[in-house]
Amino acid sequence: MKKRIVLLGPPASGKGTQADRLSLAYGVPHVSTGALLRSECERGTSLGLEAEEWTGKGLLVPDELAVRIITVWMAEHGPSFLFDGFPRTVGQAIHLDEALQSTGVPLDLIFLLELPDAEIRRRIEDRLSCLKCGATFAASLHGFSDGVACPRCGSPLVRRNDDNALALDRRLEVYKTQTMPVVSYYGKTAPSKLFRIDAAKGTDEVFDSIVGILNRH
Ligand SMILES: [Zn+2]
Repeated sequence: MKKRIVLLGPPASGKGTQADRLSLAYGVPHVSTGALLRSECERGTSLGLEAEEWTGKGLLVPDELAVRIITVWMAEHGPSFLFDGFPRTVGQAIHLDEALQSTGVPLDLIFLLELPDAEIRRRIEDRLSCLKCGATFAASLHGFSDGVACPRCGSPLVRRNDDNALALDRRLEVYKTQTMPVVSYYGKTAPSKLFRIDAAKGTDEVFDSIVGILNRH
């Protein structure tokens, strides 16, 4: 079983949902830099305050800061992992490869969840988030409205302020200019480990596609 996995994809491609299910099914700890950063911000740590200077403007945190946070996490959680939306830049990917090489455990698989822009926008407009536990829900699918209690932790669900149209434009632009090159990077350095998944399909179908690939490798 392959246990060092990267999930890449644009906003609303379902990375978090798939990471949750894979983590549960295979017992691999998963993490997103977004969740780690939110946790740092919530606790008001120096890392969190540093991160807020960037995320507050809809920008990605610098590679160095992201890698620092992930490295601490890896040290605490051992050699298996499932990264949700990390690495986000080629710089982070290179640094991650270096860190893994030094421990003799390279990445096993990289999944790219692909989703057209129009579907990204539709999903974002429909999305409610829990700021406490990071869960997200499609409002129309669950019949939820703003302020309803999170089914996981009871905290009220909100439309995240980075989900408004202008901020989304910036996130998509950042994804295209910074993260798409990560896909090209893995396409060159690890082509046999990179798999593209159609994320416009339902959650179950996407999960089955990923599991099918995991079982074949
Ligand atoms: Zn919650």
